Amino acid sequence: MRRKLAAGNWKMNGLGANLAELEKLSGLHGAPDCEILICPPATLISTARVQAGEQIAIGGQDCHENTSGAHTGDISAEMLKDAGASHVILGHSERREDHDESDSDVRQKACAAIEAGLKVVICVGESLEERETNNTLDIIGGQLAGSIPDQVTGENLVVAYEPIWAIGTGKVPTLDQIGEVHDFIRTRLERRFGEGVGRSARILYGGSVKPGNASEIFAVSNVDGALVGGASLKADDFSAIITALE
Ligand code: PGA
Repeated sequence: MRRKLAAGNWKMNGLGANLAELEKLSGLHGAPDCEILICPPATLISTARVQAGEQIAIGGQDCHENTSGAHTGDISAEMLKDAGASHVILGHSERREDHDESDSDVRQKACAAIEAGLKVVICVGESLEERETNNTLDIIGGQLAGSIPDQVTGENLVVAYEPIWAIGTGKVPTLDQIGEVHDFIRTRLERRFGEGVGRSARILYGGSVKPGNASEIFAVSNVDGALVGGASLKADDFSAIITALE
C-alpha cells in the first residue's frame, strides 16, 4: 500500500513570520494518516525543520547537480539535507521555464539528490497547447523518460503530474483527464522499473488543488496525493486538503 502524501510548495513565498502557519498545521495534524511535506523557500528550511514537529517533513524546491564548488547562488542537495530537508522538488514547470531546465538537467539534479539521501518529487506536465493538440501523453512520456534517473527506488521517487495550464489558474482537468495521465504514468513506471518500484512510487496531482476539489481528485485511480501551491500557504486550507486525503 502506498502511503498518501500531501505536499505543499510555498514557492517564493514566506518570511520567518509565516512559519506560524507551519506551527499551526503541525498542531492540527499531530498523528496524520498520511505523509505531510512542506517545501518552504531555502532560507526557511532550518527553522521550518525545528518548528514543523516530527509529523511534517521539510523539503527544498530545487538543488544543483554538483555537490559543491563555484556556483554562486546555488544550493546543493547535501546542503538541503544538512539544513533538515528530506525531500526536494525537481523540474517544476516554473524552474523549467524561468531557468531553462531541461529533462537532462532535472535527471542530473535528481541523481545528486538521491546520492545525498533525499527523496525526489519530479514534476511533469503539459502546456495548454500540447493538450489541445492531443500531445499530452507523448509529452509526459518524454519527460518521465528524460527526467527520472535509473537509480530511483519505490521509496525515494515521487512523480507530480502538474498540467502547466492548471497551476495557479483555478482551472483543473476533468477527473477523467487526471485519471488517464496518472494511469499512464503508473504504467510507464512499471514498464521501466518493474512492478516493485513502479507500484510503490507515489504519483501526486498538482494544479489548483483546493479544499473544495481535493476529495474528488483524491478518489481518482493512481492519485496518491497532491502537490499544492497557493492553498498550502495557509494552515487552514492545507489542513482541509490533508483531511480530504486521510
Ligand atoms: P497551485 O500550484 O496549487 O497554486 O496551482 C501548484 C504547484 O505549482 O505545485
